[in-house]
Amino acid sequence: MTVIVQCPTCKKPVEYSEKSPYRPFCCKRCRLIDLGAWASEERSIPGDPTFDDVLSEDLTHKN
Ligand SMILES: [Zn+2]
Repeated sequence: MTVIVQCPTCKKPVEYSEKSPYRPFCCKRCRLIDLGAWASEERSIPGDPTFDDVLSEDLTHKN
């Protein structure tokens, strides 16, 4: 049985098996593009509370 999925980046059909080490992506490049897009989205969230906490804690330790 062969399962074919679409590469999330370029929409090319990808065989979902050990023949495609970057599945569901068709290639390493498409995987990196998708991970990069996800990471930059994550960083652009305004007022990330986790980041603020780390920053103020750091300032407290210095004083
Ligand atoms: Zn692709």
